[in-house]
Amino acid sequence: MATINDNFIKIPATYLFSEIAKRVAQHKEANPNAKVIRMGIGDVSLPLPDAAVDAMIKAAEEQRHAETFRGYGPEQGYAFLRDAIVENDFKSRGLSIDADEIFVSDGAKSDTGNIGDIFSTNNRVAITDPSYPVYVDTNAMGGRAGEPNNQNVWSNLIYLPCNAENNFVPQLPQEKADLIYLCYPNNPTGTTLTKAQLKVWVDYAKANGSVILFDAAYEAFITEDDVPHSIYEIEGASEVAIEFRSFSKTAGFTGTRCGYTVVPKGVTALSESGEKVQLNKLWNRRHSTKFNGTSYVVQRAAEATYSAEGKKQVKSLISFYTENARIIREGLQKAGYTVYGGVNAPYVWAKAPQGMGSWEYFDYLLKEKNIVTTPGAGFGLSGEGFVRFSAFGSREDTLEAMKRLEK
Ligand SMILES: *Cc1c(COP(=O)(O)O)cnc(C)c1O
Repeated sequence: MATINDNFIKIPATYLFSEIAKRVAQHKEANPNAKVIRMGIGDVSLPLPDAAVDAMIKAAEEQRHAETFRGYGPEQGYAFLRDAIVENDFKSRGLSIDADEIFVSDGAKSDTGNIGDIFSTNNRVAITDPSYPVYVDTNAMGGRAGEPNNQNVWSNLIYLPCNAENNFVPQLPQEKADLIYLCYPNNPTGTTLTKAQLKVWVDYAKANGSVILFDAAYEAFITEDDVPHSIYEIEGASEVAIEFRSFSKTAGFTGTRCGYTVVPKGVTALSESGEKVQLNKLWNRRHSTKFNGTSYVVQRAAEATYSAEGKKQVKSLISFYTENARIIREGLQKAGYTVYGGVNAPYVWAKAPQGMGSWEYFDYLLKEKNIVTTPGAGFGLSGEGFVRFSAFGSREDTLEAMKRLEK
């Protein structure tokens, strides 16, 4: 009889979004006329930039004719896109990343989830708490997390609490961490690390032979000068860090699907026999074995986000959400709430008043204000006592929600 990977059944079902949906449905049934505003979403609401759509239409036309038709492309991505990435995301910031260090994919969820393939199960993994759930769950699937307790805390993971006490800056762990997941600007807290704060982690990784897995999905939302857009802005990072990028939140590609991973040739880890192996070679092997390339049409759309028109349009998408984030941040502050984030990220992390729990605060906002948020406890233990407000909604809804909270 076939047997399963038992790690999969150890993972408690995530009730977060189904539980939210259930409570919202119940509330609506009891209050059919309530105008419920959804501020829990992690998905964008504005459509794709015209430059990207025009590029897709053009590419689709090419696919109609034998002379211009493209079948399988390079697994790592077409040169036109990898070169545009190198030029616009790295060279423009004075960073030297080669095109063969870029791996184009269908998004950062896949890449942050799949990267574990190239690491042994013996690695000790450190993850900021709260965090994007993909890091914890995929390490559990890969057998690196140990056993969960009834609060969904895993015995082998090293949790790095991020809370108001440490100003959402994770402290170096007592135990030695081999793999370290960092996501900045952060989902769910909307907070960031300065260059000096990130350098502490790069130095730690260099001293301990660790690898940093840096998720920069929200890089485009950075407004402050001292916040690094790429971990490679930190000296020495190209020896110890892998970076994940996504066109999803930047350019509205959540349904179109494109992202990329940077694996510099200088990043190495040890084989069982003690030999230093380039992770670039391993990831290339993994990517070309299990992935057959992002769609040609989509890669043309991603390329178009780097054209002069595309850049302008992307900038205006980002400013729209950034303004929403400002409205939420200031609206909550005016209403007397303590909030974090929302300056360099599309999320505002709000402290529940009067010692309320995440779900209690969620219920209060739903029942009294008809506002849906995301309970912080769903992102990890340290998220308890917070809710996440998303800036991805419409301007009208954002303003209306803040008006309701003022009262
Ligand atoms: C949205 C998000 C991503 C991007 O995922 P895609 O698969 O590229 O859509 C990656 N990391 C974090 C933390 C996110 O919130």
